Amino acid sequence: MTNRFDVIIVGGGHAGCEAAAASARLGVKTALVTHQFKKIGEMSCNPAIGGLGKGHLVREIDALDGLMGRIADQACIQYRLLNRRKGPAVRGPRMQADRKLYREAMQAAITEQANLTVIEGEVDDLISVNGCVAGVVLGDGTRIDAAEVVLTTGTFLRGLIHLGDKQIPAGRVGEKPVLGLSKRLETMGLRLGRLKTGTPPRLDKNTIDWAQLEVQHGDADLEPMSALTAAITVRQVPCYITRTHAGTHKIIEDNLQKSAIYSGQIESKGPRYCPSIEDKIVRFADKDSHQIFLEPEGLDDDNIYPNGISTSLPEDVQLALVRSLPGCENAVINQPGYAIEYDYIDPRELDHTLQLKKLPGLSLAGQINGTTGYEEAGAQGLLAGANAAMRVLGCAPLILSRTQSYIAVMVDDLVTRGVTEPYRMFTSRAEFRLHLRSDNADQRLTQIGIDCGLVGAERKVVFAGRMSQLVAARKMLNELNLTPNEASRQDIQVSADGVRRSAFQLLSHPNVSLQTITDIWPALLEFPMAILEQVTVDAQYAVYLDRQRADIEAVQRDENRKIPDGMDYASLDGLSIEMCQKLIQHNPSTIAQAQRIEGMTPAAILLILAAAKRMDSRETFAKRAV
Ligand code: FAD
Repeated sequence: MTNRFDVIIVGGGHAGCEAAAASARLGVKTALVTHQFKKIGEMSCNPAIGGLGKGHLVREIDALDGLMGRIADQACIQYRLLNRRKGPAVRGPRMQADRKLYREAMQAAITEQANLTVIEGEVDDLISVNGCVAGVVLGDGTRIDAAEVVLTTGTFLRGLIHLGDKQIPAGRVGEKPVLGLSKRLETMGLRLGRLKTGTPPRLDKNTIDWAQLEVQHGDADLEPMSALTAAITVRQVPCYITRTHAGTHKIIEDNLQKSAIYSGQIESKGPRYCPSIEDKIVRFADKDSHQIFLEPEGLDDDNIYPNGISTSLPEDVQLALVRSLPGCENAVINQPGYAIEYDYIDPRELDHTLQLKKLPGLSLAGQINGTTGYEEAGAQGLLAGANAAMRVLGCAPLILSRTQSYIAVMVDDLVTRGVTEPYRMFTSRAEFRLHLRSDNADQRLTQIGIDCGLVGAERKVVFAGRMSQLVAARKMLNELNLTPNEASRQDIQVSADGVRRSAFQLLSHPNVSLQTITDIWPALLEFPMAILEQVTVDAQYAVYLDRQRADIEAVQRDENRKIPDGMDYASLDGLSIEMCQKLIQHNPSTIAQAQRIEGMTPAAILLILAAAKRMDSRETFAKRAV
């Protein structure tokens, strides 16, 4: 085996696969070191990809030619567009995935990726030379050298499973924890913390009385996650809904002290927005029922995932609570639920490329940075892997702006604010939501990916085709028009001002649908429906987007604004001593660089911005005077 690579990715989970594929796509020699090849693409918890905020991340990963979207398309057994009734900006595509199909498709993609070698083993230690990372050491003592290492170890660092009062050292159920790496990271002076997450019991589908339950079908129109997927061809299946009730809540309340979370055995924080059933009963005591989705884990899988009852109660209590649910009176538990605690590294130790400031060449992505979720992990992995490869190639880093993507919103939140609980994505975290939609991720990011060499030939062709269709459809919609009288004859009411309105403008009226417009001008149907729908969203948001575009440009102008040489931070009124010291120490040359200094507050940035503008205008004035 060759023991020298350009980039080593540690861990073949959701972050690791994207990191490895991104690095290899950039043409550098990449190794993916992971415990077991057969676990690549494993979904540790819920068998689903996407959702609110998360669907945006998947589309962005896809726009940068990442794997998650196309793999989800190959495993999709139910598709739903969440928030369909709300505005397009907050809609989230979600796919129920067949675990086995997902794993198989991910393993095939990793195997087929050029420049990528998978090595089975455990990374036990890191090698550093002259303050930079230089490789890794495996558990059997094998040394592998590389200029760049990306750690994506998930929940494995000092992982500890809690099930009632039982504690089992593990990275995931049935898999050993990783101990050596945490010690090494601690000796580097990094801040480590503990977080927890949990998973529900898995039920035997043959023991559930489905006839009693409310059925939930997916959408009839299946929209692939990936621009490269022509159509989803996997058989679609329904989910079912059951509900907790007073009896279920009593079982949980009576046994609360046996839960690892409430007995004091677990002190670390779990995901606030994905709470355990114990947490739900305590925190939402006024609610007399909680919906539980019974989701199949695969087409030929007997396991059912009861979404909504993640728990660390003892097994006998889990059985009682499951059997209290309508339809589950005789249910058998195939695998009990559990909670898991693990180490994470304070993400404020990282820069915006996800590289550790204290050890150049070492980057972190995924759960290790305090996030939760496959999509969050995958997005970070892509960015960390791409940047590691770019450093090897000597290229400029790939740093996205909050105005361009949810990936950037997440990374910026992590590295500037850190986490106090597992971080997950929401649309509310983005300032420019109307612009950052899941339907236009390719328009926001694919050209950036092409420019830095991340995007392969197939996507370039698909992207070019889609962009030219979008331009042509928009041109046609701008050219077709009606007078107010003609509009009125089509039952479209506009003010009788004699002004012609284009089809694009008419689409922005609340009562004018795409169907109405294509009925009037059937020639538009030469364009694919997806293209017409995209232009319709642009039309509906045109006014807001124009306003938001101005804000975006202002932010981008400010981000790129140079901080004049000789800025006297100590003289800025209102700047704290702490901020002042950091600025003197880092001496940033642009506002963007100042923003990336750990702990820098928005208030401090505003003060620097104002001072920079003042200095600029004084200089301009002085030049004019000369
Ligand atoms: P993982 O997918 O965990 O992958 C880590 C990989 O690294 C594994 O393949 C492992 O074998 C490998 N590895 C680790 N250390 C080493 C090493 N030293 N050497 C070699 N290989 C190594 N997310 C949610 O959004 N909602 C939930 O409700 C939820 N519940 C969860 C419940 C449980 C019990 C668990 C375990 C996870 C849960 N998650 C949940 C989290 C979700 O699984 C993760 O966010 C996601 O998988 C993180 O991806 P990752 O790539 O960071 O790590």
